[in-house]
Amino acid sequence: MTAGRPAATTARQETDDTPVCPQCGNAGLMSARFPHIWHGHTGQPVRGFKEAVLCAACDDGEGTAAELSALIDAQGAVRPEDVETFILLAGAWIDNARRRAPDSTALAEQERRWHLGEL
Ligand SMILES: [Zn+2]
Repeated sequence: MTAGRPAATTARQETDDTPVCPQCGNAGLMSARFPHIWHGHTGQPVRGFKEAVLCAACDDGEGTAAELSALIDAQGAVRPEDVETFILLAGAWIDNARRRAPDSTALAEQERRWHLGEL
């Protein structure tokens, strides 16, 4: 939290648009959706989208994400004087998300659970 910032006095209002953290299932602070290309089993490129969710709990301690989280107040707003910094950090956070590769172990576990009907 930035020094001098007043403490939040109300809980953040969750809506249908509130992103859900895929790691912990709690409400995320924000999400970004961006184009993504991968190669299917035939080797042909497949175009789709990838989504990243910023979560105060799961991203705590990850440099850019932690700085970005600190700029978002309990209502999900950014103070006007922080908007420029927010935009720069959001761009860096999305760049990091684009480069992040899926965890193959977690993916295999989710596939196993999906085949068992647990997901
Ligand atoms: Zn989380």
